[in-house]
Amino acid sequence: MSEMTELRREVPVLTDTEVLVAGGGLGGIAAALASARAGAKTVLIERNGYLGGVAAAGMCCSVYNCIFRGDGSEGVGGIPVEITGRLAQTGPGDGWRRHKGHIIYDVERAKLLFSEILEEAGVRVLTGLACSDVILEGDRLRGVIVTGRRGLEAIRAEAVVDSTGDADIAALSGAPIKTRYGKTSYVFRLGGVDMDRFVDYFKRHPDQYPERMDVNWTFEEAMAQYDETGTFLFPHGGGIQLAAVREAMEEGLLPREIGVQNTIGAMQMHGIRKLGVLHVITGYAPLHAMSAEEIAPTVTDGRRMAFAVAEFFRKKLPGFENAYVAATADDLGIRTSRYIDGEFLFTKQMKENETHFDDAVGRGVVERLVKLNTADGAWNAQVLGDCCYDIPLRCLLPRKIEGLIMGSGRSVSSEIPDLLRVMVMTMAVGQGAGTAAAVAVRQGVPVRNVDYEALKRELIRGGVPF
Ligand SMILES: Cc1cc2nc3c(=O)[nH]c(=O)nc-3n(C[C@H](O)[C@H](O)[C@H](O)COP(=O)(O)OP(=O)(O)OC[C@H]3O[C@@H](n4cnc5c(N)ncnc54)[C@H](O)[C@@H]3O)c2cc1C
Repeated sequence: MSEMTELRREVPVLTDTEVLVAGGGLGGIAAALASARAGAKTVLIERNGYLGGVAAAGMCCSVYNCIFRGDGSEGVGGIPVEITGRLAQTGPGDGWRRHKGHIIYDVERAKLLFSEILEEAGVRVLTGLACSDVILEGDRLRGVIVTGRRGLEAIRAEAVVDSTGDADIAALSGAPIKTRYGKTSYVFRLGGVDMDRFVDYFKRHPDQYPERMDVNWTFEEAMAQYDETGTFLFPHGGGIQLAAVREAMEEGLLPREIGVQNTIGAMQMHGIRKLGVLHVITGYAPLHAMSAEEIAPTVTDGRRMAFAVAEFFRKKLPGFENAYVAATADDLGIRTSRYIDGEFLFTKQMKENETHFDDAVGRGVVERLVKLNTADGAWNAQVLGDCCYDIPLRCLLPRKIEGLIMGSGRSVSSEIPDLLRVMVMTMAVGQGAGTAAAVAVRQGVPVRNVDYEALKRELIRGGVPF
């Protein structure tokens, strides 16, 4: 972008609120829920027509179960557990607490569920509105400008939670930010799948199932979970372990890459038996995630990939004889993009160790990536420890700007933006941010100056374990 043009105009005020949550992914949903439950008048704006972000529009339909410690006890409490439990009712049901790996849910039910959860809490949800500018008085954020059907409008707020995942509000406010463009993935859904027949294939050919890879489980554990819950996880990176994938690539039936989509054989699959649907994450595309010019062709290549991969499934894998592409994701799955360069840096070492802070706003279970599957090209497994680390409030607070807090694990101040991005952790960050914003508004102070003891009491009331 080389040329610039000036825009100066007055815009009508859509509404005033105490807490404004920008972005309705899992981080924003948790933030808005926590804020409303802490007694603040809360508005959530979302640019899409429905809530969920990566977890719905991106069709990533599996909550990595990092709620429970390696010894099976619950390490993360509060809203992440509540929402995961409700999502699980659309997939594995009550058995999810014993569930290793990923809790697979029905994306379509989830879209409705997210709206209902916020409706029950009294959050005012406004969809189809993208935040395109901010209202600043010096360094104090006073609200945002949104763009929707009626054009530009203002929403004034006493505190703003940035749950856009791309740190849009922080960037528009002029807070110091960093960028890290990771690989993106495009997800699609196959319908008409006979899941029992597909799983039976692995029962007859156990060597084809990549155990202790991505998820720290054995083949027997994976099959027992399917038998109990009717949800099937084929771990990420596992596709390259399948003989059928390798043969199809050699025959030219399955392309190794389509345009910018590469690593097509790496597929991860999430199936729900009762629905006959299987979501496939396959292919990676590196791109600058903030570039509209790059996103559009990446999604087009992703859709081409969906139909090519579906053709391979129909021809080569049992259970897919009548399968068809039932849906393709509305949004590209973007793992990392922009995040704040805050005063406190959350590090990988803090996550891998039992690290405690005096300003904790949430907890996660310590975790390491370990190579357990020794096959050629096998990916690491996520191994959960028996203790927890704290998420410090300071890594949610941007430098320079007052009245703003980050409510997405993707955009906190961290060594790499991957550390708190998974669904459970982005919800933990969201709950911390939403609670802090509401308590600060109650106290009449900018969120940076919130009284920590009062915040901690509210977090404990919201189920966060300390
Ligand atoms: C391919 C892929 C696979 C994954 N697999 C898993 C998995 O198996 N298990 C797991 O636990 N995690 C997984 N993750 C990670 C996890 O899904 C995401 O990190 C998490 O869902 C992000 O939630 P969020 O709310 O922080 O951000 P997002 O989901 O990105 O939500 C941000 C929301 O803000 C909206 N928004 C953005 N900008 C604006 C704006 N300016 N105005 C208004 N609205 C705006 C967006 O539309 C979106 O709804 C995966 C991620 C990807 C990409």
